[in-house]
Amino acid sequence: MINSNNTILEVKDLRQWFPIHRGIFQRVVGHTKAVDGVSFAMREQEVLGLVGESGCGKTTTGRSILRLYDPTGGEVWYHRADGSIVDVATVGPTEMKALRREMRMIFQDPFSSLNPRMTVRDLIGEPLIIHNVAKGRELEERVAVLMRSVGLEPAYMQRYPHEFSGGQRQRIGLARTLSLNPRLIIADEPVSALDVSVQAQVLNLLQGLKDELGLTLLFIAHDLSVVEHICDRIAVMYVGKIVELAESETLLRHPLHPYTEALVSAVPPADPDIQTHRIILEGDVPSPANPPSGCVFHPRCRYAQDICVQQEPRLVEIEPDHYASCHFAKELQLVGIGG
Ligand code: SF4
Repeated sequence: MINSNNTILEVKDLRQWFPIHRGIFQRVVGHTKAVDGVSFAMREQEVLGLVGESGCGKTTTGRSILRLYDPTGGEVWYHRADGSIVDVATVGPTEMKALRREMRMIFQDPFSSLNPRMTVRDLIGEPLIIHNVAKGRELEERVAVLMRSVGLEPAYMQRYPHEFSGGQRQRIGLARTLSLNPRLIIADEPVSALDVSVQAQVLNLLQGLKDELGLTLLFIAHDLSVVEHICDRIAVMYVGKIVELAESETLLRHPLHPYTEALVSAVPPADPDIQTHRIILEGDVPSPANPPSGCVFHPRCRYAQDICVQQEPRLVEIEPDHYASCHFAKELQLVGIGG
């Protein structure tokens, strides 16, 4: 297959189900449907936010795309720089190793994702060695360039992760991710473990690097306020499914799904004098091992009606490029930012 447009990734009906075992024979008695029929596409150099509460399946989606888990079903079409297209969900280990140069992940926790016994030089240089890209003096020079690109002083390359602050450690992780010149980065809550004061610095750095290097970013976050400025489009996930997908500005100002409306209501307004009404969702996110019937959001939805308990809504295009899965998406007048 040859890529004829600027699409870089097409995820189709991705499923990641984990078996539930019971009894002394550990029989499979059901499945936790962590990701259940997720579909979306990304354009080159786009930043797509994947947002939802803990346990909604966003991290599992990212990990399944990169084959850190073998997907239960679905397709993950990656459009390579040479124009060829591969289904990441089914490629063999040799091809996957080559793809890992182009598709990389930034992990959430800069404290546990870096091996504490490795120096910064070895941490950033390791992918270059594994993929036979550089060694010796050349390796050191490349590590120095990478450190500078993320705002770290190369003089510190012989130091260990514990000698750096949280924000600096996330910069080390970023340099490691960038070492192989990836095209697509999946950033799994890259700032949520950092102090609020440091979050903006790392987000600005990521945005700058994305523009400079022409990266495509899938940005996973649990909170819309983190992604609203960096993302071109936002997909909202709930119990393993995408419930709304649109351009960021449209989704924030004019949500079509009641769950998005509740998430939007939690975003602090730019002007602190503006009064906002936060929607508090009752109850917890249901378990993907035992999701509610019909619309999975119905037990917490203040607009739910009988049909919501019986029939599952599908994710459909309600307005141009604006998708939502709600039986009443066309009728409800939901409130967005500034609404
Ligand atoms: Fe709420 Fe019904 Fe829409 Fe689900 S389908 S979000 S329960 S109104």
